[in-house]
Parts: sequence; C-alpha cells; structure tokens
Amino acid sequence: MERTFLAIKPDGVQRGLVGEIIRRFETKGFTLVGLKFMKVSRELAEQHYGVHRERPFFPGLVEFIISSPVVAMVWEGEGVVAAARKIIGATNPLNAEPGTIRGDFGVNVGRNLIHGSDAQETAQTEIALWFKDEELVAWQPHSKPWLN
Ligand code: ADP
Ligand code: MG
Repeated sequence: MERTFLAIKPDGVQRGLVGEIIRRFETKGFTLVGLKFMKVSRELAEQHYGVHRERPFFPGLVEFIISSPVVAMVWEGEGVVAAARKIIGATNPLNAEPGTIRGDFGVNVGRNLIHGSDAQETAQTEIALWFKDEELVAWQPHSKPWLN
C-alpha cells in the first residue's frame, strides 16, 4: 500500500494547528502508520532538504526546521502521495486554494506549516530518513469496511 511522509513544521506546532492538520488526513480516510513529536537535528534537516542546498533560502529553512519541535508522520492509502499534496496546497500559501491547509492557515512561503513528499520515490527516501522500520505500525482499521 502506498505511503507518504508528512511533517508539521515548527510554525504549525507553535500555532496550535497539530490537531487540525492531522484531522484533515484522518477524516479523508487515510491510515496513520507512524507518528513522532521531535526536535530535528541540523544533520537531518540538511539531509531532508538536501535537494535545495544551493537555494538562497536553504540556510534559513534549516534554521527554522531545527528551531522548535515538529510532528513527523507516515500516512498510508491509495494515492496518498498526490492526495496529500492536494490537501496541503501550493508551496506559497498566497497561491494555495482555500480549503487546503496552506490556503486556509498559511502566512508565507517560509512559514507554510507542513511538508509532504512530492512523489512516491521521494516518499520512500523520506520515510527511511525519518523513521526506523520498527517505528512504523502496519494495521487494518476496522472502521474502513468500504475498502474491502
Ligand atoms: P514544498 O514544501 O511545497 O514541496 P519546495 O520543495 O519547493 O516546496 O520547498 C521546500 C520548502 O522550502 C518549502 O515548503 C518552503 O518552506 C521553503 N521554501 C521554498 N521556496 C522558498 C522561498 N522562495 N523562500 C523561502 N522559503 C522557501
Ligand atoms: Mg518539496
């Protein structure tokens, strides 16, 4: 089953949006398989955003991600990678549609509340970077009879 990596960034935690953000994926019908509340090391932040290493915003982005705790999550479900990106909304909250997390709550591109993997391959890399195998819980929600 397809999985994606999501992280509620420091601004989402600081603004008290953890419950609101998790609710959106839960009520959509995706299955939570991994969750941890943590401070991010500089090394992990730099690896996670490694693709942006040469961009001017990279140093500030890393400082921001390590500044305060985040909620790291793995969610599972059919088409969850692309669906989560839709639920999250455009990178710049000013361009994000109302009804998306960034469209409803985001302030600017540097404070856009949540990360979501951008493709299935990226999701696998990010899940392996953030979670150990034993931290992921494979389970069948009894509350999803429509999946059978
Ligand atoms: P996304 O998070 O939507 O996948 P990107 O992968 O393009 O977006 O960028 C990663 C993160 O880097 C963004 O979520 C945002 O926090 C930050 N970022 C991107 N572009 C800028 C920018 N122009 N200025 C400041 N921060 C940026
Ligand atoms: Mg990205």
